[in-house]
Amino acid sequence: MTYIEPAPITDRKNPFESMMSRFNIAADILGLDSEVYNVLKTPSKQLTVHLPVTMDDGTIKVFEGHRVVHSSILGPSKGGVRFDPHVNIDEVKALAAWMTWKCAVVDIPYGGAKGGVCCNPREMSAGEVERLVRAYTAAMVDIFGPDRDIPAPDMGTGPREMAWMMDQYSRAQGMTVNAVVTGKPLVLGGSLGRVAATGRGVMVSALAAMEKLKMVPTKASCAVQGFGNVGANAALLLSERGVKIKAISDISGAYWNEDGIDILDAIKYKELNDHTLDGYSNAQSIDNDALLETDVDVLVPAAMEDAITMENAHKIKAKLIVEGANGPTAADADSTIHDKGIVVVPDILANAGGVTVSYFEWVQNRLGYKWTAERVQRRSDRIMKEAFDRVYHKSVEHKVSLRIAAYIVAIKKVADTFRLRGSF
Ligand code: NAD
Repeated sequence: MTYIEPAPITDRKNPFESMMSRFNIAADILGLDSEVYNVLKTPSKQLTVHLPVTMDDGTIKVFEGHRVVHSSILGPSKGGVRFDPHVNIDEVKALAAWMTWKCAVVDIPYGGAKGGVCCNPREMSAGEVERLVRAYTAAMVDIFGPDRDIPAPDMGTGPREMAWMMDQYSRAQGMTVNAVVTGKPLVLGGSLGRVAATGRGVMVSALAAMEKLKMVPTKASCAVQGFGNVGANAALLLSERGVKIKAISDISGAYWNEDGIDILDAIKYKELNDHTLDGYSNAQSIDNDALLETDVDVLVPAAMEDAITMENAHKIKAKLIVEGANGPTAADADSTIHDKGIVVVPDILANAGGVTVSYFEWVQNRLGYKWTAERVQRRSDRIMKEAFDRVYHKSVEHKVSLRIAAYIVAIKKVADTFRLRGSF
């Protein structure tokens, strides 16, 4: 189950504007004509629903939910469903567009979508969450579909919710349709390798970038912000390749060890302590914000949006940032980071390992077959490495950052496909 403590609402930038500012730069470089620009800048479909749900005390509460399909140009749209008190349509629109670019960068045949329900699942019983999931799915039954729009987990939702979603959709169709949702429990058609997939992709793209920067993994140090699904797996896999993880953090604070943190030990500690690093004593406790400014070679922000801003970007010492989270760098920090010569592997590339293995889950469901973990990892590693190389070559060709290069790769693919498919 993925839960993120939300950032104070006042600190949140408008994620749609943040996404559009990068999109606009890439569109300009590509010379994208205004017709295609207008198609790609707006979502193709968006639905807001109000869901009455009976709570355990018998009262009926109404929850607002959204599903935004940004694009189905490359194939059925794909994107998670977020259960969080801060969900709003702007955020869902930005995340849906990000999914379009992410799928295009790694070259999987999906468009982009995102969903969200404004709720606080931490304050709801399992029964209340189940009824909300079922109400949301029932309201989206004409949008979802294995060939139309395929939801997945996001903040506040996990395999349990995906099982209910799959079941509710299947009931409406009168048959089991497990390919309608990814991120399911293994017994319901989930894929081996899915849990660690995003962290693994972060590791693959970090190593690829380190190679370009002539950084030797066994001599490099790293700080990881966020110790959840993405951060903990990325930290573990990087440490297994010899990178010294000097700092980790979660909502409870940050922890530093000059000699490197034993990541397996930290994961075990977290598992035994209600999923928090609070009180972790095998490393020195440091101020949470200080993690971003520690003296390390590689920084992996893997917690939340807008962690790196104009206010703290100038204090970053790392030479490489690998964005495990979605949107961890606010657009207004881009120029400071660029001026400091820091290389950023952008979110739409670095954390695409998750959607890649979700795609494999869908492929396996449609084949009615199960792949081994080894096969899943080998194929996703290859896709991530090829995507990194594609983006890297574009950045050299256009003399732009990896972020703008990733947008160029993605926008060009979607725009070319749109032209080939034609319109009314
Ligand atoms: P998670 O809930 O498992 O972990 C989030 C971690 O961040 C937790 O350890 C939490 O304590 C920590 N955190 C929250 N606020 C913090 C703060 N202020 N300082 C330090 N740590 C803080 O979530 P996750 O699945 O690992 O997702 C993390 C990010 O990665 C999100 O932006 C998510 O959208 C993105 N992402 C996740 C996946 C995936 O497959 N899980 C895929 C792509 C992108």
